[in-house]
Amino acid sequence: MDHAQRTRRGLLIVLSSPSGAGKSTIGRKLMEEDPTITMSISATTRQKRAGEVDDVDYHFVSDEEFQRLVDADELAEWAYVFEHRYGSPKEPIKEALRLGRDTLFDIDWQGTQQLEYAFRTDLVRIFILPPSMAELRRRLEDRGTDQPEVIDFRMKRAAAEIGHWAEYDYVLINEDVDQCTKKVQAIVAAERLRRERQPYLLDFVRKLVEKPN
Ligand code: GDP
Ligand code: ADP
Repeated sequence: MDHAQRTRRGLLIVLSSPSGAGKSTIGRKLMEEDPTITMSISATTRQKRAGEVDDVDYHFVSDEEFQRLVDADELAEWAYVFEHRYGSPKEPIKEALRLGRDTLFDIDWQGTQQLEYAFRTDLVRIFILPPSMAELRRRLEDRGTDQPEVIDFRMKRAAAEIGHWAEYDYVLINEDVDQCTKKVQAIVAAERLRRERQPYLLDFVRKLVEKPN
């Protein structure tokens, strides 16, 4: 761990996109190449898909348990997406900020707006666009995780999700997944170097100029 990681707060990196544009794939690649980034595991009331693991992909919870989390103020944000509820647990976020660990969020625009209110200075918002709507449908179909009617529903919702692109700090078109991941890495690298995220610089520069050459 370098000096910067010990002394700065963690970043909250949000990846949003219409379903199927590739944010999970890009997020996975980002974390493979930089294991210091951890994923925020959301709670959701939606059904587990084949291959998904409880407490790894999501905390799969009942409607009652989700309501308990809301009532106990244990979620930093939550929203209805595709008629199910999804939310980000608050405690791991606070801990990551304190320890200077960067956290990745795969959440929609509603959740991003709520994080903006609570954690504005720590937030980096990235929106991923598909190259075309036809390609978006192809990706949803090729993923093979959803029934045709679910895919139709997600396609109908895609335009509404895309409508929020201008609320994000960075917007990328996911044509080639490796190139897009590289761009996300570049964003993260630059955001870590923002002056206000390097509080130790004040001390460093003071000492630097104090020393006569
Ligand atoms: P996917 O879009 O095909 O990956 O399907 P999911 O059912 O996994 O996610 C549906 C949508 O819910 C996606 O747009 C996610 O970004 C969003 N989502 C997932 N977790 C959360 C969360 O904790 N909060 C909010 N607000 N949105 C979430
Ligand atoms: P999201 O998390 O946004 O719903 P996924 O990451 O699950 O999307 O991607 C949807 C499907 O598209 C997956 O099968 C994934 O392998 C594929 N995919 C992602 N990015 C690309 C890309 N740039 N080119 C082609 N296929 C892609």
